[in-house]
Amino acid sequence: MEYDVLVIGAGAAGLMTAIVAGRRGRRVLVLDHANKAGKKILMSGGGRCNFTNTNTTPANFLSANPHFCKSALARYTPWDFIAMVDRHRIAWHEKSPGQLFCDESSKLIVRMLLAEGADAGARVETGVAVHRLRAVDGGFAVETALGAVRAASVVVATGGLSIPSLGATGFGYEIARQFGHTVLPVRAGLVPLTLSGKHQARFEGLSGLSLPVEARAGGASFRDAMLVTHRGLSGPAILQVSSYWEPGVDLHLDLLPGLDAAAALRQGRAERPAAELKTVLAGLLPRRLAERLCEVWLPNRPMRQFRDAELSDMGARLADWPVTASGTEGYRTAEVTLGGVDTDEVSSSTLMSRRQPGLFFVGEVLDVTGHLGGYNFQWAWASGNAAGQAV
Ligand SMILES: Cc1cc2nc3c(=O)[nH]c(=O)nc-3n(C[C@H](O)[C@H](O)[C@H](O)COP(=O)(O)OP(=O)(O)OC[C@H]3O[C@@H](n4cnc5c(N)ncnc54)[C@H](O)[C@@H]3O)c2cc1C
Repeated sequence: MEYDVLVIGAGAAGLMTAIVAGRRGRRVLVLDHANKAGKKILMSGGGRCNFTNTNTTPANFLSANPHFCKSALARYTPWDFIAMVDRHRIAWHEKSPGQLFCDESSKLIVRMLLAEGADAGARVETGVAVHRLRAVDGGFAVETALGAVRAASVVVATGGLSIPSLGATGFGYEIARQFGHTVLPVRAGLVPLTLSGKHQARFEGLSGLSLPVEARAGGASFRDAMLVTHRGLSGPAILQVSSYWEPGVDLHLDLLPGLDAAAALRQGRAERPAAELKTVLAGLLPRRLAERLCEVWLPNRPMRQFRDAELSDMGARLADWPVTASGTEGYRTAEVTLGGVDTDEVSSSTLMSRRQPGLFFVGEVLDVTGHLGGYNFQWAWASGNAAGQAV
């Protein structure tokens, strides 16, 4: 079997590469070992696929080289993808500013990508394991469960390690190493944080409680909802900040974001001097959390007994609450994998390896990781488009 382009991985980036390369008249074969194409797309956005974010900028991505993503993102914008979605009459809505979701189902996005691929003449085969890849004269020879395949170019679109049950493997990293690439250390991102020991015990019984916070770690801060889980902390604010957190990095929460907490407490004292702190705090925070704060951390007394300085200290503490996380829930629940193929050894305009001509890396296998909110798919579409134009 002879092809111009072999794409390994029929996920978001691989399918986009196949569409763009196929439209250019390239003979394209896409192979995936999973039994279906685009399994992560199907799972994404709670089944409604947050397929892009109209506010995408390079600042929404983590990478050892923050400039790497710029070229591909500039050449395939969220509006290019929206145009494809609109052409297929897939209804969508903006959930929070910039975040676009399907009205109906993620299935429509996968169906659209497969239809576009078929239209462009690309062949997509699922349930096919890819074994060994060798560089040969004029390209590559690949051993697959379908038989031997020869291709002038190979595009590695195998994604990251998150959610192994959906087909995630480290195969892309192995290929990268085989051809002399550096693979930067990987870890789970956009993932719930876990608490343990006394830190977990202090949150006991609060599972299910949600509140707006500003979560800060590693120089980044995100204002959004936080959810207490039975293992620790989750919700969008925590998922976002988890990509900046590592063991040893401080995590701080502003429990009353946008509010001058000390002023709110002074006002509470003026209005209800006989009320206890937990009652006043329950007007500012979920009641169960207010009570727990006063059981474990804060002195619960009638408001009139607090001096100004004490309320100022308490306000400062509520605005910068330290949390000791013990770890993350790991790849089992992580939305993305941080780290990966070092972008220094890949062309930012073509996504081709600088070590092995004809070898390309697209999507999450690279050391480019988006924030929560449709950015990761936008990177998959944009990097797939860039490679599809170059293969
Ligand atoms: C639960 C969940 C929800 C998400 N929701 C969103 C969202 O709403 N918006 C957003 O922007 N991002 C979301 N993401 C992140 C997004 O899904 C990924 O960043 C994106 O899919 C990466 O695209 P990719 O093509 O690089 O990799 P993937 O889409 O993961 O595709 C990689 C493909 O390679 C295949 N593969 C792996 N190893 C091999 C091998 N050895 N041989 C053959 N094939 C192989 C896999 O089966 C898979 O089909 C979510 C992720 C998860 C896990």
